[in-house]
Amino acid sequence: MKKKIGFIGLGIMGKPMAINLIKAGYELTVYDINQSAVEEVAALGASKAASSKEVAEKSDVIITMLPNSPHVKAAVLGENGVLEGARPNSILIDMSSIAPLVSQEIAAKVREKGMEMLDAPVSGGEPKAIDGTLAIMVGGPEEVFKQVEEILSVMASSVTLVGEIGSGNVTKLANQVIVALNIAAMSEAMVLAQKSGVDPYQVYQAIRKGLAGSTVLDAKMPLVVERNFKPGFRIELHIKDLLNALETGHDVGAPMPLSSQVMEMMQVLKADGKAGDDHGGLIQYYEKLANVEVGK
Ligand code: NAD
Repeated sequence: MKKKIGFIGLGIMGKPMAINLIKAGYELTVYDINQSAVEEVAALGASKAASSKEVAEKSDVIITMLPNSPHVKAAVLGENGVLEGARPNSILIDMSSIAPLVSQEIAAKVREKGMEMLDAPVSGGEPKAIDGTLAIMVGGPEEVFKQVEEILSVMASSVTLVGEIGSGNVTKLANQVIVALNIAAMSEAMVLAQKSGVDPYQVYQAIRKGLAGSTVLDAKMPLVVERNFKPGFRIELHIKDLLNALETGHDVGAPMPLSSQVMEMMQVLKADGKAGDDHGGLIQYYEKLANVEVGK
């Protein structure tokens, strides 16, 4: 028999992920503090719950897809939260990108209640959430992972168990550091080209198949030259991830000089009212420094 799934957090990512589980034939109970998101997913066949507690009461597996650590703590450990309604032996899969140490902290409390937990953040963004082709990086015990691998596979084209609880989020932070630094490198280089009087798009075409080529360059350069900074992945969410990366780096004794610089560049854009831009909009920081605009 298919496991009953609870889904908490029906935002840009959570909504299409929940819809894919419904399409795959799973029985879903859903909750979000935003009632209109609940109504939308309920119209497609999910049952509505009035709290995270009620979701847990009705589910074998509870998935959370929330913005950051405090939201996951509130939904799981808070009043009317998952722990208050959890069935013994149920499994919490937190798919939000949060601080790895918080995943470990929540997992310890969850286990005291006889539940299990995996941290399973995703990479891929809204289009891949819609297509069910996310990359999921998982931390937690292998025997728990095996019980829910089939469910995770509905939402993803790759599901990788990386290690113990918290490892999923460490992997996601590594991913976010690499992406942020790539965008900054691209921005610095393309402003140099523009200022030197060489068409940045031609520079991109000339170098994309060489060592400097990257998925980031291919994804962001066409948008930059069209001046399209519609998200995608918002700068404010990337600030959140870099703050979590820096905090983790400080905790474990891994200094992160480049990440801290790029985080401050993003803070400049936030102060300039651009927190809602796509993270490819980081180039606007360099453009302001050099008083130039990269374009076709
Ligand atoms: P979002 O802000 O669109 O959605 C979050 C949802 O959580 C909202 O609907 C909000 O109402 C709900 N919520 C907040 N607190 C709640 C609570 N206590 N109880 C119930 N519901 C609550 O965010 P998103 O873009 O869907 O991102 C979710 C997570 O996925 C984040 O950690 C983000 O970093 C990560 N992520 C996002 C992307 C992306 O491209 N958007 C890509 C990969 C990973």
